[in-house]
Parts: sequence; C-alpha cells; structure tokens
Amino acid sequence: MGSDAGAASVAPMPAERLRITEIFHSIQGEADAIGWPTVFVRLTGCPLRCVWCDTEYSFHGGQWHAIDEILAEVARHGARHVCVTGGEPLAQKRCPILLRKLCDAGYEVSLETSGALDVAAVDPRVRKVMDLKAPDSGESARNLWSNLDHLLPHDQLKIVIASRADYEWARGVVAEHALERRCMVLFSPVHGAVQPRELAEWILADRLPVRFQMQLHKLLWNDAPGH
Ligand code: SF4
Repeated sequence: MGSDAGAASVAPMPAERLRITEIFHSIQGEADAIGWPTVFVRLTGCPLRCVWCDTEYSFHGGQWHAIDEILAEVARHGARHVCVTGGEPLAQKRCPILLRKLCDAGYEVSLETSGALDVAAVDPRVRKVMDLKAPDSGESARNLWSNLDHLLPHDQLKIVIASRADYEWARGVVAEHALERRCMVLFSPVHGAVQPRELAEWILADRLPVRFQMQLHKLLWNDAPGH
C-alpha cells in the first residue's frame, strides 16, 4: 500500500475531554502550597458522600472541555501553581493526562484526591494531597490503603477531623503506618464540629508528628464558590 493511501485512512483523533465544574484563580487555602496564588481546576463528579463535604455543587452538572482548552484557560490566569481538585478528580479516567500536560507546561501542580481511588497513574511530578477518611466522614471504608505505597516525599496526607473519636482514629493510623516517614501529615478540623484550638491542643499533648492546618479560604471568603 502506498503512503498516500495509508495517510488517507487515518481518522483525526477525537479531543481528550474532561467534565469541569469551574476553573478559577484564588489563594491556595490548605496543605503545603498554602497562600500561593493558584489556578484551581475543579473536575465534576465524586463517588463518595462525605458527611461534611463542602463541594457538593461539584457532584453533578459541569461542562465538557478539551484538555487543551483547559490548559489555555489555566494559562490565561498567569499563575505558577495549579491545583486539580473536585469532587474526586480521579473519577474521570483522563485526569492523569491533564496532570501530565500541566507538568509538561512547567506549572507547580497539586492534586486533591479522596484516597479512595488508585493514585498509581498520577505523574510523579504532581504533589498529591491525599485524604484518609476518618469514621465521622461516613466514608472510612473507602480508604484504599494500597495508595500509601504510591506516596512520594513531596506528597501530603490529610485527615479531616470532626470529633475526638476521629482524632483518636487518626492518631492510631499515623502510628500504625508510620505515616510521618512517608510524607507530611496534615490534621484539619471540620468547620463547626471541632474547635480548632481543641485539635491543636490534642496534637500538642500527644506530641504528634503532624501539621495542624485550618483552611485559609474559609477565613478569607467564608467558602463562597469561586474561591
Ligand atoms: S471525597 Fe471530597 S468531594 Fe467527594 S464527598 Fe468527600 S469531601 Fe466531597
């Protein structure tokens, strides 16, 4: 077969697309990149239903966008940091392609993920901010413990704590899996459920090797969408 005939038979590849709830520019409110101007890419959909979820508006709806369009929109904001979040971004199987392309474009890329879906395909240049769900979330049974083996030193584990019982669970998990030897561990109080000072004092009393954090965007914007 001649080369022209071969070329004619190749159909154009359909654009790789993702369903997006919002893309916006704000201040990173948590984890290691806290305080940096950041572009957030919020993917639509999540298979979990944490009791205290603050992004339920991302469960449904959204718009399909080609990954190259998403990159163009991110570039328009002119920030060095990009956070891919949700929902649960890894629930869309093309999410790792977006992550890789953002890294290739030279951004500092982070991924916020529930810890319930396999993170093995995530580009190692991405800083994973991975939850471990404590019992009061209602989703503790979804923790995919094999994910701990895919954490790199620049990643972060986050445990959101809604009660003293959650705290004791988290303290036990840190000890059992020596989590602080894998990466940074963050304990964060559920807004309105645990007094932040109470959680800080528990951490100090137990000399835990974890980092206390409060969500900066809640202080700045009271969790309004788009921030
Ligand atoms: S994993 Fe995240 S987005 Fe999904 S329900 Fe839990 S808190 Fe909400």
